Amino acid sequence: MTVWLLGDQLHPESHVLDGADRVLLIEATAFADRRSYHPQKLGLVFAAMRHARDRLQDAGYEVEYRRGDSFGDALDAHFETHPGDDLRLMRPPSHGAADRLRELVESRGGTLTLVDDDRFLCSPAAFDEWHGGGDFRHEDFYRWMRRREGVLTADGDPVGGGWNFDESNRETPPDDWSPPPVPRYEPDALTRETLDWVEERFDTWGEREGFAWPVTHEDARDALDHFVTHRLPEFGPYQDAMVGDEWALAHSLLSSSLNLGLLGPREVVDAAVGAWERDAAPIESVEGFVRQVLGWREFMRHVYRRTMPDLAEGDLLDRSRDLPSLYYDGETRMRCLDEAVSHVYDHGYAHHIERLMVLSNFATLVGADPHELNEWFHVGFVDAYHWVTTPNVLGMGTFATDAFTSKPYVSSGNYVDKMSDHCTACPYDVDATTGEDACPFNALYWDFLKEHEETLRGTGRMGLMYSHVDRKGEAEWAAIRDRASKLRERAAEGSL
Ligand code: FAD
Repeated sequence: MTVWLLGDQLHPESHVLDGADRVLLIEATAFADRRSYHPQKLGLVFAAMRHARDRLQDAGYEVEYRRGDSFGDALDAHFETHPGDDLRLMRPPSHGAADRLRELVESRGGTLTLVDDDRFLCSPAAFDEWHGGGDFRHEDFYRWMRRREGVLTADGDPVGGGWNFDESNRETPPDDWSPPPVPRYEPDALTRETLDWVEERFDTWGEREGFAWPVTHEDARDALDHFVTHRLPEFGPYQDAMVGDEWALAHSLLSSSLNLGLLGPREVVDAAVGAWERDAAPIESVEGFVRQVLGWREFMRHVYRRTMPDLAEGDLLDRSRDLPSLYYDGETRMRCLDEAVSHVYDHGYAHHIERLMVLSNFATLVGADPHELNEWFHVGFVDAYHWVTTPNVLGMGTFATDAFTSKPYVSSGNYVDKMSDHCTACPYDVDATTGEDACPFNALYWDFLKEHEETLRGTGRMGLMYSHVDRKGEAEWAAIRDRASKLRERAAEGSL
């Protein structure tokens, strides 16, 4: 029997390793040839795999590290050495992946035993038993998880005065705020060698210099401790804020480690709750963070599992325009978009509000094909995997599906102005809707609501938005339409 570890299943204490002697890791390159991925994303995955190989060897495992074009090539070599071997694999979350891998193994005369994915706390069986059928509601799931896991609860009730503290968690920092420190994990010789190879071997999009992501469990643990000590206290109040020249604010930057399995969700949640128990972080921040990891991350995984393949097909709003070139070259005078795209280019990362209310919001309003946006996220972000990027982009980000959201997250420039300091430094006027210097978000927002009125007016909580739509007269609509259409042309020709 051999344990087959995929490149995002790297936790040294994963239960898949229990009782194993031999471990197989396959470094396949074909997937990375298909698209121009961010060099930090490819470098991170390959460097983390190579470090896991060395760590497992040091721990006494017999490690087979096979490099090849595809999984098929590497499995050919494996079964030549170990004919009829049984491979034990943690069930991968991507749709159809387990069946594809089983087919690859069985067609080479081997067998595949699948075990539960311990990178999540809630198993498919537990989720399905809890959910039954009907709508997917995050808040219900989250409260159930809090009680089930005994996190921030006492006798089934929430500790600290409530289930959520959203009202306290929508602040923006004062002008003289000094952002808490962000740790850097300088590449060692193996990571540098991996990054060099990635740069030479693949066509990439993004900046390789400045790579500082954790590539080992030890560094990821350190990143967790660093976050809990230095940034968690301010995570809550500033989680929706955007500040010029600040890419991390008080966010945890732990998604790449969680999604690679370098960290487990339980240790992350326990570390945050521990800070509250020691009075080292306020309940608003700790609950806000726990909600993301115990709630949203687990919820997205199950919604994806339950709604694929429909989730990834079609578009409720039928959009087909190309994603504007500014997403690739960063060429725009719009300060919020310029910042967000450059964070992705420089780090393979942008925080949640930039992803949702800038990058997705703009693509949605401009009418870009949500599937192209999904691809863009997939190649550009260090934490992107099909199971998590797809529901976030197609559900929450663009409303291509209403599988678990009742309305699109769209806004005019007003939201960006409220939550950031970008608009004061932007050449566009956030208070204007029409006219050459008007913030592009404004006309595009109203035009979007008008264009999709038939689908959206009766949807979920859109009443307030449409009450504003109803107040506009014919002349105002004509000017908005004209401005929106010019903006779409300019976005298409790359001159926004
Ligand atoms: P923090 O803000 O510190 O949050 C803590 C943790 O909570 C994250 O590390 C992450 O593991 C989890 N989390 C929070 N929100 C979500 C969510 N909606 N779905 C899943 N996990 C969540 N997250 C990814 O891991 N990979 C993606 O490819 C991805 N694509 C996204 C695309 C869009 C359009 C949007 C709106 C969100 C996306 N997210 C994705 C969710 C979220 O934005 C990131 O998890 C988060 O920004 C990562 O940064 P962080 O580790 O600093 O997170």
